Amino acid sequence: MKIFDNTEIAFSLKSDSQLERAYFLFRMIQNEPMVKIGSAVTNFALKANLPIERLIRSTVFDHFCGGVTEDDCIPIIDNMYNNGKVHSVLDYSVEGKDEEASFDGALEKILRIITFCEEKKSIPFAVFKPSGFGRFALFQKISEEKELSIEEQDEWLRVVTRFNKVCKLAHEKDVPLLIDAEESWMQTAADDLIEDLMETYNKEKAIVFNTLQMYKHDRMEYLKGLHARAQEKDFYIGMKVVRGAYMEKERERAQEKGYPSPICKDKQATDDNYNEAILYMMEHPKMALFAGTHNEESSYMLMELAKQYGVKENDNRLWFGQLFGMSDHISYNLANQGYNVAKYLPFGPVKDVMPYLIRRAEENTSVAGQTSRELTLLKVERKRRKL
Ligand SMILES: Cc1cc2nc3c(=O)[nH]c(=O)nc-3n(C[C@H](O)[C@H](O)[C@H](O)COP(=O)(O)OP(=O)(O)OC[C@H]3O[C@@H](n4cnc5c(N)ncnc54)[C@H](O)[C@@H]3O)c2cc1C
Repeated sequence: MKIFDNTEIAFSLKSDSQLERAYFLFRMIQNEPMVKIGSAVTNFALKANLPIERLIRSTVFDHFCGGVTEDDCIPIIDNMYNNGKVHSVLDYSVEGKDEEASFDGALEKILRIITFCEEKKSIPFAVFKPSGFGRFALFQKISEEKELSIEEQDEWLRVVTRFNKVCKLAHEKDVPLLIDAEESWMQTAADDLIEDLMETYNKEKAIVFNTLQMYKHDRMEYLKGLHARAQEKDFYIGMKVVRGAYMEKERERAQEKGYPSPICKDKQATDDNYNEAILYMMEHPKMALFAGTHNEESSYMLMELAKQYGVKENDNRLWFGQLFGMSDHISYNLANQGYNVAKYLPFGPVKDVMPYLIRRAEENTSVAGQTSRELTLLKVERKRRKL
């Protein structure tokens, strides 16, 4: 038996009723029209203030999120760590609030989480999204090399200050910081800013981590360029490597606006690109890798590469990451073998994490094989437990 097939370890933290809920949920999610209609109805009902929060909480929310506040997440974090050797990354998942007060609120939240991480071994990273700290359209304008007005220049300065504050604290507290990647048309501004921060704070080791979305066909070239600059300026590279979550949106926009799609031509090309990136990172010292993936082949390949390059299971330069509520068979079986594993644990008010939840539901319908794999494993475990 291959290690990810062990469902007893995969679901050891789930009670029978939690297992049944997961089975029910993934069966629902498998149905694409249901997800489409469900997302639209939910959005409408929340906007109209209809009382559906409890329904959302008891279904998708509790499966994919840790709670509304950090404190709600603590019992889950402790349980995963003490009983499954799996770490957590507290992910404040409020999205799409394009206002200064919200950016300052997010900043305070991340600063508090960094301090919290310092105290808790079970939370080895802090994380945030660039658009959580500044207006999406501002990132876009800079990425498009358009001139900023005086007000926008001030606004950008505030964004840079927010990024700097979290990176400085992360460096002082020795807590590595993951920065998510978003849509390609705003990402260049984020990449440039994060590279500057790596240069400042990654002198001794990787503290600031950017994210590479390997569904973009230019990312190997970008990684190699960054590597050359890092060697020249003498800093470490921290990278979360993912495939990318906005494929449909990216392709639609490219077609609508008539530019070549930035996305790889097919799934195989994305997979090859992903595997090339993790190989490149393992080949070169002064790089720390957080492999954010639910893909079994890439995960097996990375375990092999770690062996080949003499990187021990618990070496701090190598982490495997999955999302809470998904691919427990990878997380818990890897952790059981002694590898560093962390699950993103999203939290926030139900209404505000809806874009995140809808993305998860859509991803699970659109990603070929993902839901059926979850369902197969859940079925095997239900049978094993004689449910
Ligand atoms: C811990 C963690 C952190 C993450 N952080 C981010 C982040 O910061 N930014 C972000 O964008 N995403 C992020 N993601 C999501 C991630 O990008 C993927 O959407 C998700 O993990 C599914 O990819 P996979 O590697 O698990 O593998 P798989 O399920 O094998 O691959 C699915 C992915 O392959 C790609 N793909 C599918 N079909 C095609 C096709 N026809 N042509 C080209 N490519 C295709 C898409 O990227 C799709 O999501 C994160 C995921 C995890 C686990």
